[in-house]
Formats: sequence, structure tokens, C-alpha cells
Amino acid sequence: MKKISIVIPAYNEEGNVALIHQKIKEVFSELPNYDFEIIFVNDGSRDGTQKQLEVLSSQFSEIKFIEFSRNFGHQPAVKAGMDSALGNAVISMDGDLQHPPELIPQMIKKWEEGYDVVLTIRKYPKEISFFKRKTSDFFYKLLSGLSDVNLTKGGGSDFRLMDANVVEVMRKFNEDDLFLRGLTSWMGFKQSAIEFTASERVSGQSSYNLKKMITFAFTGITAFSVKPLYIAAYLGFLFSAFSVIGYGAYVIYAFVSKTEISGWASLIMTIVFFGGLQLIILGIIGIYLGKIFKQVKARPNYIIKNKNF
Ligand code: UDP
Ligand code: MG
Repeated sequence: MKKISIVIPAYNEEGNVALIHQKIKEVFSELPNYDFEIIFVNDGSRDGTQKQLEVLSSQFSEIKFIEFSRNFGHQPAVKAGMDSALGNAVISMDGDLQHPPELIPQMIKKWEEGYDVVLTIRKYPKEISFFKRKTSDFFYKLLSGLSDVNLTKGGGSDFRLMDANVVEVMRKFNEDDLFLRGLTSWMGFKQSAIEFTASERVSGQSSYNLKKMITFAFTGITAFSVKPLYIAAYLGFLFSAFSVIGYGAYVIYAFVSKTEISGWASLIMTIVFFGGLQLIILGIIGIYLGKIFKQVKARPNYIIKNKNF
């Protein structure tokens, strides 16, 4: 019998874990030819998530948990679950029921058809705020434009199925700033996608705010591409060329008209502008430098405090 591992990162999901287990169980009761396990990764929750998991896992043998020593973030939590998953295929999904378990049979079907990776493309329901929708769209456009991985719009949901072979490859990765959706796209293999509509979070709060989303965007871009560095260099060339031309034009103008162009304001503005530009470019270099610094230390992505399997 083939086994499917479901990996669920959980950060303050005490109101959701029992419910999602129930739903997944229902789904698998319709799939009698598959065995399943659910690996909850408690990412340093501050609520009763751990208690819930301990109670549930003592009642149901298919429930496993990994408890982190602190909050490491969504991506490391997914990675930890994949690292310990024993299934022939691994499905990662959010713990707040925004990723409908009803899609699992379709994903398995695609996998059985021979796809190694089954992505899900999230369509937005009407209730999702205009702001979140736009920032998300913008993020994927920017990311695809700036990096060398091809990310379909919305293909970025972390609800996906991977064959055990793909998971095996993923385990060997030793990247500091994890960006799993990008890595999945980058790895290749035979990929397929299905669409779904994300629903509202059932209980609790989303922990992704604007600041986190911007950080995530930077991680995504800088983990996959050095294009920002090229852009910085191109800008340098562009402005140098511009200044040479401008300078020539100015000298000619001064000789012909025998007057000088005065302009304190324009001078100051130019200095401020270029000061700013240089700081931005230094910052970009700094981000890459920081990544090298973190990677060189080679600290683990996460620390496990407790595990029941
Ligand atoms: N999550 C996590 N660690 C964190 C933040 C979130 O493991 O530091 C989990 C969370 O429990 C959920 C998933 O990641 O299962 C997605 O988080 P959330 O619903 O807050 O994000 P959103 O759906 O708003 O993008
Ligand atoms: Mg959510």
C-alpha cells in the first residue's frame, strides 16, 4: 500500500489542528488504497498547539509531531516535516484550512499519472483584500522578472505534492534562507498544476504581515538570482554615460553662450539623488554579503526539541 505523508506547519493553530486532521481523515476514507500519516510541525507556538498535538497523537496513530525549540518560520517548518516524512509522496499544506484537503485526491491522481510534483495555483476568492491580492500579484511578477526561476502567478502556494524522489533531493539542500516554492520550480522534474480557491483562515490569525511579506520577497529574489547586482552595475554605466554626455554638452554651451549655468538647488538635488542611489546599491550588495555570511556559518534551518516518532 502506498503511503502519503501530509506535512503541516503549525504556529498557534490550536483551534485548527483537530479540525484539519478530521478533514484529512474523511478524505482518506474515500481513498482506501492509500495509507497516510500527518506530520504536524509545531513551530514554537505560544498557544496550546503542542498540548493538542500530544493528545491527538495518543489517540490516532497516523498523527505525528515535531516540536521546534523556538519559532523558526513557515519554510523551515515545512522542510523539517519533509525531512522526516516516510511516504511515497509528500503533501505540504497550511494548518489553517486555507488549503482545502478535498484537493488531495486530485493531487494523488496527477501523481499516479506520472507527475513528480503537483503544484496548486491559488485563485483568490472575493473576500481576500484587494491589497493582499495586489501585493501577491506584484510579488510574483517581480520575482519572475528578477530571478531565473519561472514562477507561475499564484503557483506560489505552499500546498503541493512531491514524489519521494523529489523530496529526497530537497533534503540534501543546504540553503540558509529557504524559499521552497522557488526551489521546487528550480529543481525541474515533471510538474503539473491544479487550481483551487483559497478560503478564509478558520481560526486564529495570519502571521504574515506586510513587513514579513517584503522580507519574504527579498529572500525569494536574492536566493535565486544575482540580477539585482547586474541592475546596479547597469545603472552605474548608464549614469556614467549620461554624465559624460551632459558634461560635454555643458562645456559647449558655456563656450558658445559665454555664460555659466547656475543652480544651487539642482546641484544639491543631484547630490542627494546619487547619494541615495549609492546607498541603495550598497544595500543590495550588503544583502548578498549577509546571505554569504549566514550561509558560511552553516547553522541548521531548525532545531527539534521533541518528536514523537
Ligand atoms: N506558520 C509557521 N510558522 C510561522 C508562521 C506560520 O509554521 O512562523 C504556519 C501557520 O501555522 C500556517 C502556515 O504556516 O499553517 C501559513 O501561515 P499563515 O496562515 O499565517 O499565512 P497566510 O495564509 O496568511 O499566508
Ligand atoms: Mg493562512
